Amino acid sequence: MKTIFEQAHRIIIKVGSSLIIGENNRVREEWLKTVAEDIAHLRGLGKQVTVITSGAVGLGRQTLRYGARKLELEEKQAAAACGQITLISHWAKAFQFENSESFYPAQILLTLDDSENRRRYLNARSTLETLLAEPHIIPIVNENDTVATEELKVGDNDRLAARVAQMISADLLVLLSDIDGLYVENPFINPAAEFIPEVSRITTEIEAMAGGSGSMLGSGGMRTKIEAAKIALAAGCHMLIGKGAEMHPLERLMKGERCTSFRAGATPKSARKHWISGSLKALGVYTVDEGAAAALQNGKSLLPAGVREVEGAFERGDAVIIKSLRGEVLGKGLSAYSSIDAKRIIGARSSEIEKVLGFKYRDTLVHRDDMVLEISGRKNI
Ligand code: GLU
Repeated sequence: MKTIFEQAHRIIIKVGSSLIIGENNRVREEWLKTVAEDIAHLRGLGKQVTVITSGAVGLGRQTLRYGARKLELEEKQAAAACGQITLISHWAKAFQFENSESFYPAQILLTLDDSENRRRYLNARSTLETLLAEPHIIPIVNENDTVATEELKVGDNDRLAARVAQMISADLLVLLSDIDGLYVENPFINPAAEFIPEVSRITTEIEAMAGGSGSMLGSGGMRTKIEAAKIALAAGCHMLIGKGAEMHPLERLMKGERCTSFRAGATPKSARKHWISGSLKALGVYTVDEGAAAALQNGKSLLPAGVREVEGAFERGDAVIIKSLRGEVLGKGLSAYSSIDAKRIIGARSSEIEKVLGFKYRDTLVHRDDMVLEISGRKNI
């Protein structure tokens, strides 16, 4: 049987502060290099990799000479502003290889809103998709800590990583940690605690095992990892918690080093379609001509040229119903344009979108990945 790693195509790797920053408060450069080499290896196998990195606050703390004291919110934000530069330059350096082609990081700083607000979510997703299509670019994500206040933050990079996994329909999320996985009890307190190799559902028992936060440097601990697993599994993304501290942590996990696997029941694609068909309220209707209706049945996206009418008031990223001229419901999807913009471009060729609107997000009104078709047409919404 293929391992989760072998099967995965789109992988998110989360690296915590306590792994990046060593005991003397310096970046563990030698270790980081081995992580970069592992990522390059995965890329060479044709897998797409996105990194979620912590460490900005921890590194900025030193630049600002704050020492180890508890920081006020503004101080944390200031530390993140300084430390993010140090952090990303270490990643950039780690990806410079002497004997093989180098890779280049693309920095993405996200806020909670970028994953919750559907318009911004579509923007962040298409930026990440564009970067992932480039063979020598590795998107490196952190939370935009410098301006977000506590209540507007995801707060920890475990959950941020899971949200990014959901956003780009990743099929594997790897949380590199200071521990090799989930235990029934805290193994730092009880060394005989039982290890849990596999989880397929987050039960209340599993949540109880997670307890509180463990390490001092990061903000996570097991609790946020379990929260991350909930988000990932619901999005059809498998998750691994594995030990990250030693050299070549990803290669070790690929070779079968002990870790806890959280197995998703669905695929990212089916989970996303389920989310579109189930949880989202449609705010408008596109009535499409026969040619477009036939194209949709053949797995094509909905183009502006095939739409006859737009009803409702909606924003880019909102859900809309797609109907035939006879009033049958053909499907439901996320609109790439607002109702105001859609009204101006329907009937037009995709190559004319920019001329009409003055800008263009994409050629399609509803992309096929953002669409769920009805098995047989219904008369009502
Ligand atoms: N975004 C924070 C940082 O870069 C880390 C949050 C976390 O470790 O969970 O310092």
